[in-house]
Amino acid sequence: MKYRSTRGAITKTRIAAEAVVQGLAEDGGLYVPVDFPKPDLKLDQLAGITLQQASTMVLSWLMDDLPAAQRQESIAQAYGRQWDDPRITPLTDQVGGNYYLELFHGPTLAFKDVALQLLPQLMTKSAQEIGLDRQIVILTATSGDTGGASMDGFSDVAGTCVVVFYPHHGVSPVQLHQMRSVPGKNLTPVAIDGNFDDAQRNVKQLFNDQQLGAELATHQLQFSSANSMNIGRLIPQIAYYFYAYGQLLARHRIASGDEVNFTVPTGNFGDILAGFYAEKLGLPIHRLICASDQNNVLTDFFRTGKYDRQRQFFVTNSPSMDILVSSNLERLLLDAAGGNAQRVADLMAQLQRDGHYQVNAEEQAFLDRYFAAGFAGEQVVKEEIHRVYAEDQYLLDPHTAVASAVVRHYQQESGDQTPMVIVSTASPFKFPETVYQSLTGQEVDQPGLPAIHQLQELLGVDLPQGVAALFDRDDRPQRVTAPAQMGETLRDILHLN
Ligand SMILES: *Cc1c(COP(=O)(O)O)cnc(C)c1O
Repeated sequence: MKYRSTRGAITKTRIAAEAVVQGLAEDGGLYVPVDFPKPDLKLDQLAGITLQQASTMVLSWLMDDLPAAQRQESIAQAYGRQWDDPRITPLTDQVGGNYYLELFHGPTLAFKDVALQLLPQLMTKSAQEIGLDRQIVILTATSGDTGGASMDGFSDVAGTCVVVFYPHHGVSPVQLHQMRSVPGKNLTPVAIDGNFDDAQRNVKQLFNDQQLGAELATHQLQFSSANSMNIGRLIPQIAYYFYAYGQLLARHRIASGDEVNFTVPTGNFGDILAGFYAEKLGLPIHRLICASDQNNVLTDFFRTGKYDRQRQFFVTNSPSMDILVSSNLERLLLDAAGGNAQRVADLMAQLQRDGHYQVNAEEQAFLDRYFAAGFAGEQVVKEEIHRVYAEDQYLLDPHTAVASAVVRHYQQESGDQTPMVIVSTASPFKFPETVYQSLTGQEVDQPGLPAIHQLQELLGVDLPQGVAALFDRDDRPQRVTAPAQMGETLRDILHLN
């Protein structure tokens, strides 16, 4: 398997190990497979496969330069007892006619764990494979969940350290506590006075800062990324789309070859892109429905073909989706543009310069073939949490509620009866304030950990293992910096000065 940059020549390729260790391409683009393999996939053999088996399959297709034994060892380590469900990513039975694919049973209670329990294994083994003799600095921007999940995944992993930048007032109390309390000597979270887009933009700049790169090299250090800009984040996510299909087959909810839909609560477009890649690898997906919150730049994009980031930014009750520049859309654009990287580079330059771009009719037709889109505002989210709990006794977190609300609207409007899997991205206990408020109409007495107890009492259930663990850990002191100072802060943390 060879990888290329979305903005670079098709002849300039890297093996997967190099792409994963490097994170971002030098030209600012993102790594994508040069050609997707066309695996000889017998769909009926997916019936009843485990997530681990689905991962084995996907890694054999997309990371074939790592020896099979190393891939296997990585998967075994990633999907073990740190999950509070032996199925790792269980699919519910029908709830209101649809299925929820629960991706939140890992240590930080959000879907990022699926990829970030595996990525550190893949990255350190890849580094060995290519003979890297430097320490890897994982530089991460987070809207909340990637921070905690990457810190947990890389905690005390030899040869790595993690620096996470998060918006000071843009993450939930539980997310904040997770980031500040994950144990590990190699982890540093930093708050910035700005939003996620500021964090992400500056992290990208630091990545491409040649002077800084040279300073790192003299200290035997090298950057990599645990954001979904790293192809090593997307590859593990492809597996659960196959797993979900296999579960539906095993339960005779579908027959081999039947199409299914997936609705994905979307921010940086990583999760849903993994679904698109699953389709390219042969999974019969009819439609991928891109669900956004009030920051509905993607809804407008899919409906009109115009991407316009010049709009008001909202801090909502689904903070991990509060994003105006969805990085991974760039990867989809390369497909929409028939592999023309110059076209992608032009559109990205235009986005940077003018704040918007417009795809052409052919590109739009390509997008329409695979995607639909919708959004839900904060009030709708609360109503959806309330409704689904009242009708089906099934509890949604606000991100999943965005998707769930979008699905209802989509199904009513389109009449599309294809079996629907709603990708469920966080535990309701991770956002107890909104969930409690949605159920009772009352505010919690105190946000954060006390709110978890209050929600638990309301529901009369035991806390899942990962939620209970939150109460045993103390916070580090908080470090805050201005966006413009991120470089200096980083130099300080890494002792470059
Ligand atoms: C990160 C995240 C999302 C958005 O996923 P993307 O891959 O960025 O589109 C949605 N929900 C939750 C809970 C998340 O943590």
